[in-house]
Order: sequence, then structure tokens, then C-alpha cells
Amino acid sequence: MMDGSKGPKRPPVLILLGPPGAGKGTQARMLSERFGFIQLSTGDLLRAAVVAGTDAGKRAKSVMEAGGLVSDNIVLAILADRLAEPDCANGVILDGVPRTTAQAKALDTLLANAGQSIDAALALEVDDVEMVVRIAGRFTCGACGEGYHDSFKAPKVEGVCDCCGAQDMKRRADDKAETVMARLDAYHAETAPLISYYEQRGVLWRIRAMGDIDEIAAKITGVVAAITA
Ligand SMILES: [Zn+2]
Repeated sequence: MMDGSKGPKRPPVLILLGPPGAGKGTQARMLSERFGFIQLSTGDLLRAAVVAGTDAGKRAKSVMEAGGLVSDNIVLAILADRLAEPDCANGVILDGVPRTTAQAKALDTLLANAGQSIDAALALEVDDVEMVVRIAGRFTCGACGEGYHDSFKAPKVEGVCDCCGAQDMKRRADDKAETVMARLDAYHAETAPLISYYEQRGVLWRIRAMGDIDEIAAKITGVVAAITA
């Protein structure tokens, strides 16, 4: 769409951006099933490279064993190796990489060397306040694991599990409203530069991600169909 050249068809490279709780994992799986894209997340990439014992994998392993953070260069070297593997020929979805604009620029260079480029950055957008209500309202029965929600699925008798009758409701510390808000703030602070980077390149698609999962999937599918047509 942005690319005027009509070279040989190359595998699309998509980036999926979205805060925790926006359903990124679900949408990435949908894209894998529907289009045959391979989902590449930083964690999976690192683990696989360490297991495979590639050069970059060995470097990552020694950094991690020393308790350090694996550098952008190593992550990108691992990504470059991975993109060259045959199963990536249908296209890939990157999740968690790039993280910074420096990484995004390095990724552009890496892709350009392989005759590729970012085809779309899909930014899942949420309503922060509504997200906090959704996440902070969750709790589960400690006995049977049944899930509940203050607003959407309260037990019939407060504090008593509908399924097993236990009175052992648990809330995850991570789901506290302040924690969720802090996580969203951190996400926005980290991602805003990436969003504008991809917007300037004309590959950013903002996808409202508050509705029904299937509706969100349909929007994403529409974008992907358009850019791969
Ligand atoms: Zn229960």
C-alpha cells in the first residue's frame, strides 16, 4: 500500500502493539490460524535461540545467566536468524519487539537487508478506565478456580462460590486498580514513541480493542487482507 514497488511477493511483517489485557495473544493466535503467520515474541525467540545454541543464542544465554538484560543487538540478531527460517515464509507477527524507536530503526535496517519492511503496526487501543474496571473486578474461587467479576459476574451470595460453595475468594495482587493503572501508564509511556514512529511511516493502524473479541478479530482481518492484497 505504501510501497510503490512491484517486486516479488515477500512475506508480510506485522507488529502487534497493545497493553496487557487488550487481548493481544488471542488476536495473534487468530492471525496465525487464519493467515499462517508465525507469532514471534521476544521471550519465545530468546528461549528457542538458547535451546538451539545459535551464536546469538549463546550470547543471550551468558547474559541471562549473569542476571543481565539481553541487549537490543542480541535480540535483533536472534530475530534475523529466525526470520530466515522457512516457516516464516507466510509472514510473521512481532509481539514485544521492537520495544523502543532505536530497536524499531535497527529492525527496519535488518528487514531492508532482507528485502522486507514492516507492512503494518497494529495498535490495539483500549479505554484505560474501562480496562481498570474489567481487570480490577476479577476474582476467583480458591477452591475450584471458578472465575467471577464484581460488575459482570458476581456470585449469587456474596463471598460464596456458586459452583462449590466454598468461601475462599481470591484476588490477584497484580489485578489491583492502582497496579493495573500503573501498568497501563507504563505501556503508554513506552509505546507512544513507537506509535508515532510507525504513524510517520504510514503503516500504523489503530484498532479499537474494547468490544467483542470476534469483532476486533474482524477489524484486524480486514486490515491484514488489505495490506496483503
Ligand atoms: Zn468454587
